[in-house]
Amino acid sequence: MATYHIETYGCTSNRGESRQIERALRDAGHYRVDGPEDADVAILNTCTVVEKTERNMLRRAEALDEETADLIVTGCMALAQGEAFESADVDAQVLHWDDVPVAVTNGECPTTTPDVEPVLDGVVGILPIARGCMSNCSYCITKFATGRVDSPTVEENVEKARALVHAGAKEIRVTGQDTGVYGWDTGERKLPELLDRICDIDGSFRVRLGMANPGGIHGIHDELAELFAENEKLYDFIHAPVQSGSDDVLEAMRRQHHVEKFREIVATFDERLDHWTLSTDFIVGFPTESRSDHELSMELLEECRPEKVNITRFSKRPGTDAAEMKGLGGTIKKERSKAMTELKMEIVGEAYASMVGDRREVLVVEEGTADSVKCRDPAYRQVIVTNATDRGIEVGEFLDVEITAAETVYCYGEPV
Ligand code: SF4
Repeated sequence: MATYHIETYGCTSNRGESRQIERALRDAGHYRVDGPEDADVAILNTCTVVEKTERNMLRRAEALDEETADLIVTGCMALAQGEAFESADVDAQVLHWDDVPVAVTNGECPTTTPDVEPVLDGVVGILPIARGCMSNCSYCITKFATGRVDSPTVEENVEKARALVHAGAKEIRVTGQDTGVYGWDTGERKLPELLDRICDIDGSFRVRLGMANPGGIHGIHDELAELFAENEKLYDFIHAPVQSGSDDVLEAMRRQHHVEKFREIVATFDERLDHWTLSTDFIVGFPTESRSDHELSMELLEECRPEKVNITRFSKRPGTDAAEMKGLGGTIKKERSKAMTELKMEIVGEAYASMVGDRREVLVVEEGTADSVKCRDPAYRQVIVTNATDRGIEVGEFLDVEITAAETVYCYGEPV
């Protein structure tokens, strides 16, 4: 959980991107503060319409770099002239809008709690199933606020899911700090039962399982893979943040898994499911990460070939044990995150390119830009369908599409 400051420049579209970023940050438990000096992270959403604007953006980035612990630069100038910030010696992560929320989260789990009512956002229902986790990661500040896992009963969560479906939810996002440990506090691991019961609710909808740490799902991964294979309401999607390919680093992070457990989970899903999405996270530049540790992370990424990867440059959060460790220099972190990001783009791009020519049933989850709609296929891959108005396509409906083209992190589909 971090405090952030955000500044947005330019057109209404850029302001829309900032609203999306803020929504994701709020859902993950982060909160906004009034000035950059009080924030853990400052976000500069840039514009690059004329040369004068570019100079202003650079000056503003330099000032924010001085004033805050961490700076993220996003927006049009970041995408078109990202290298200008590096040339000006601004120590910032230069990111696409979609990657900002994860970078702010800094490798921690989202702070979602079940004591607030589930939220329906368009056709997406957010269902927090439990508060807290079973870990004590050395870099995590969220843990201070949330404590050990505290799980409401399966029945309570199923009732909330049912209410969401009745209110119009077509996609239910099962969330929590660590969904894999749901029920551990009661002595029973209840995630498979909960997912099964939610899928039994009458109606046409999909269920997306949120962050589940490898240590939490290991042991129920066989049961989960079986459930995914049998139940078409469940998106074939797992978000299991491995964070490093080195056991030494995982121990220093005090994660509850070693790399082998993660490999076993991936292998099990590979065996049971033809088309599924592995989403994982890596923290780059953890204080104890040596060059060879970094190489191990690169090798793991290459080996497991996840279709979605969040890469976070390590930064210190006050009061955590990792904040007391001697950190790596900014240049090392920058170089490692650049190398990993390049590999990630190659791997993810290949996964989307391989879908061209396939037919899929997709759920239309929200409106996109320029009269397009964003859809999700059964493995939660993003599919864009254009000319939605002419085609009479509405958010919340299911469509059969053929995948006709792919970009790095999404593809295009034509209704068939
Ligand atoms: S699993 Fe680790 S990172 Fe996630 S909330 Fe618990 S202590 Fe924090």
